[in-house]
Amino acid sequence: MSEKRTALVISAHAADFVWRCGEAIALHQQLGYEVTVVCLSFGERGESAKLWKQGGMTLDRVKAARRREAEDAAAELGAHDIRFLDLGDYPLELDREARFRLVDIIREVQPGWMMSHSKWNPYNTDHMYATQVALECRMIAQAWGHNPGQKVLGAPQLYLFEPHQTEQMGWKPDVFLDITPVWEKARCDRVHGGSAAPVGVLHESRPEPGQPFPPQFGRAGRRAECGIRGRIPVGLSADGG
Ligand SMILES: [Zn+2]
Repeated sequence: MSEKRTALVISAHAADFVWRCGEAIALHQQLGYEVTVVCLSFGERGESAKLWKQGGMTLDRVKAARRREAEDAAAELGAHDIRFLDLGDYPLELDREARFRLVDIIREVQPGWMMSHSKWNPYNTDHMYATQVALECRMIAQAWGHNPGQKVLGAPQLYLFEPHQTEQMGWKPDVFLDITPVWEKARCDRVHGGSAAPVGVLHESRPEPGQPFPPQFGRAGRRAECGIRGRIPVGLSADGG
């Protein structure tokens, strides 16, 4: 029997994994991976404006709604599992105990690869903080002296998914996925909460050296503009390799 193949996505807020790597999750599930998603927060304060604009909203109601949406999206993408750590957002903060909770999950999943946000994002510091935490917790999970007796983590690559303003954040993709096999699945309404949101991103072609990035290079509109589908970048690995 072949060994189980696993992956772990660390999402700062409950919807980030849907927008930024939904296709990568669906594709790898189709390839036989078990992909686990960890949402560090629900994005209840900073990424739920649509809910807050409704009358009579409370923090608990927002969290419950975001959780339902994330669970629906994860199910539609075929994700193996989704965990919610409910650590708060804007700002997202993890103390030592919260870091160890994430380390426990990393050790439990034993991911073959990991994925999180871009390393630099001054417009959404929760996102880059999540990646810093992912790197720290990967390191702790590899330490033989942390909870001796547990199986330590190997050396999974950490991939970084795309920020909004790609060119301002030093994000230069060097890994692309062909997502054609999961295109229909990843664009469905259930994944995107009924919105007509674009799924994922396209960097089908990069500018020639010395040429500027096209306007709005990145998420919105790019797919329609190009008329291309089927490839998304999963970003520069945090390990530089
Ligand atoms: Zn977010």
